[in-house]
Amino acid sequence: MRLILLGPPGAGKGTQAKILVEDYGIPQLSTGDILRSAIAAKTPMGLAAKEVMDRGDLVSDTIVNGIVSERLDAPDCKPGFILDGFPRTIAQAEALSTMLKEKSMELNAVVEIKADVDVLVQRVVSRGKEAGGRADDNEAVLRNRLEVYNQQTAPLVKYYADKGQLKSVDGMEPVETVTASIKAAIGS
Ligand code: AMP
Repeated sequence: MRLILLGPPGAGKGTQAKILVEDYGIPQLSTGDILRSAIAAKTPMGLAAKEVMDRGDLVSDTIVNGIVSERLDAPDCKPGFILDGFPRTIAQAEALSTMLKEKSMELNAVVEIKADVDVLVQRVVSRGKEAGGRADDNEAVLRNRLEVYNQQTAPLVKYYADKGQLKSVDGMEPVETVTASIKAAIGS
């Protein structure tokens, strides 16, 4: 199963990816998690990405495309993977398509988790207040992340719909209901 989870920040992509990882035995590829690990390890890539991430802007396509291409070559991705937070721009989607062709891999589905923006602000702000919350979870940064999503990532919904690969689920339902909707959408 090769899957992309699409949706605005706070829609539940990470939560759903973690459940699907358990159920399908395939890894979650979160570019956000990989970048946060790079920051924690103070690697040159992490140092370069930190400021951009703290503002809620997007890290360059070159950096994230490189991360994903390398990650897809790991043996645990052989049976499949769940992309969470990538692609986020049309250019990344095009790069992914080329990468997958080169690696003789095919996507099974792109699932859009639809969510209400006001509820998302609430959700993400409360996540930020929890102990050890993320530096990019305060309200001003979140509003920027939503703006960046609307401008740069939302066009992917049409991009994948036009390719006939898009399935949409209601992300405002309880977590288990959303999981069931995703499984129904991907037909397994
Ligand atoms: P996330 O954990 O997916 O919300 O990502 C956190 C932050 O990491 C984003 O706000 C971006 O700054 C950066 N990031 C993660 N994935 C990408 C991506 N595919 N393209 C560009 N920046 C990304």
